[in-house]
Amino acid sequence: MVQHQGEGYGAAVGPGHHRHDHRAGQRMDKIREARAKGYEGDPCPKCQTMTLVRNGTCLKCGTCGSTTGCS
Ligand SMILES: [Zn+2]
Repeated sequence: MVQHQGEGYGAAVGPGHHRHDHRAGQRMDKIREARAKGYEGDPCPKCQTMTLVRNGTCLKCGTCGSTTGCS
């Protein structure tokens, strides 16, 4: 088992990762766009924007500042 330290983005995010999936549609486009900007690609449960960033063990919204997973 390999223990990743500082579990952040990096492995899954990067250039050259272009997949054409027409069924997924605009939602995947938004997720991909968000990830291209360094976000996780998940919608904020509070303000619905795709600006969640990795914040330790949870996600934090870059727009409204709310966190997920670590209440
Ligand atoms: Zn938010």
